[in-house]
Amino acid sequence: MLAPNLKTAIDGLAHLIENADAVLPFTGAGISTECGIPDFRSPGGIWARMQPIPFDAFMASQEMRNEAWRRRFAMADEFQGARPGRGHRALASLYQAGKAPAVITQNIDNLHQESGIAPADVVELHGNTTYAVCLGCAARYELPWVRQKFEAADGRAPDCDCGGYIKTATVSFGQAMPEAATARAAPRSWCGPRPGSRCSPSATERGWRSSTASRPSSTTWPISSFTTTSEPCSRPS
Ligand SMILES: [Zn+2]
Repeated sequence: MLAPNLKTAIDGLAHLIENADAVLPFTGAGISTECGIPDFRSPGGIWARMQPIPFDAFMASQEMRNEAWRRRFAMADEFQGARPGRGHRALASLYQAGKAPAVITQNIDNLHQESGIAPADVVELHGNTTYAVCLGCAARYELPWVRQKFEAADGRAPDCDCGGYIKTATVSFGQAMPEAATARAAPRSWCGPRPGSRCSPSATERGWRSSTASRPSSTTWPISSFTTTSEPCSRPS
């Protein structure tokens, strides 16, 4: 706890944000739990209910690939109604105000994008579970297509035409971090939007600098409206 009470914490956070050149949010599972998506490590979380499937097991076994997809579709049935929550909306307002150039996240649920942050400005260090890719040729596959093939084959995970395995676009244990996302995260971490602030040259490459140029430079944003609202998520029943 960084402050003795919530109001002090909110005031302190607002002060920090107002006095910062830029804020770069880094989010994890906690921001999505109030939207109905359980985290992984908490009691009752996903890993308390089932062991994760390591990448080498996925690659080595058709049964593991079948199991991975069984879990994914079960998750879809449970969580596909999730909508951005207060935290997502607060960060989107920072982004819209030109204060946050991007969001770096460990989450795979696509809720930052759905909250209004351009996909190009959401750096997903652990990938995204709302679509799939071929591990052989990197072709993209949409989940409804995979599910149709999976169900038509009585629960057998489909493969790509190239022979590669199709996996959600997420990072598993034992799987390398995505190089592109990691490379995109670094320059966004180095500098703020104020002209003349200390930046690596690579940070001026295509990315947040161009994407923030069209946004208003206002730094006012109503943090309290997100922390005091009684409705955490606009989740359909
Ligand atoms: Zn392929």
